[in-house]
Parts: sequence; structure tokens; C-alpha cells
Amino acid sequence: MRTPSKKPQWQKDIARERVEILFSLADRTFPARPDRAHRYVQLARKIAMRYTVRISPELRRRFCRACSHYLRPGVNVRFRTSAAQRAVLVTCLDCGHVSRLPYRRESGL
Ligand SMILES: [Zn+2]
Repeated sequence: MRTPSKKPQWQKDIARERVEILFSLADRTFPARPDRAHRYVQLARKIAMRYTVRISPELRRRFCRACSHYLRPGVNVRFRTSAAQRAVLVTCLDCGHVSRLPYRRESGL
């Protein structure tokens, strides 16, 4: 008997690919239809959760964890670096949620 949380690797690979496709769709759709872009993000997060795949750090800074809105710099998101917290503070201008993205050592920040 297989536990439901154990998904085969090929399913995870497909899920990861779908997440990436949904994010690029969101990126393309955002200027004309932000509501649709937000839907794509919600879908991508649902897929990632169901298949327990991690959304890459690069994609993770493109949406709001609180309201699942797609975030576009200069439109609905603000980035601030905090030396004290050694992190980038990402403020969603749609709901006001602030998330912290710790500096990664490899990135040399
Ligand atoms: Zn938000």
C-alpha cells in the first residue's frame, strides 16, 4: 500500500513543469487581465501543494503568499532590502502582506 503523500517522481516533474507554465502565463496575462494572472498563481500553488513540489525561490518572489496575487514590480509589489534582517522584504501592495526572503549565501548578496 502506498501512502497518498508519496507521489512518483514523473508526476512531480510534470507538476513542476505545470507550475512554471502557469507562472509564465500569469506573467504574460497580467498587464491585460490581472484577475486571470491571479487565478494562474492560485492554480500553480494548488498543483504544487497536491504534488508536494517546492516552488522555486525565483518564482516564490513573484506572488503574494497571503492573497495569491501575481506580483509585478512597479505595479503591485515593493522590494526593500533589510541589512538588519539580512533579507529582502516583499510588500504586496494589494493586501499589504510583507514576506521576508532571506539572503541566500550563494547569491553573494
Ligand atoms: Zn497580497
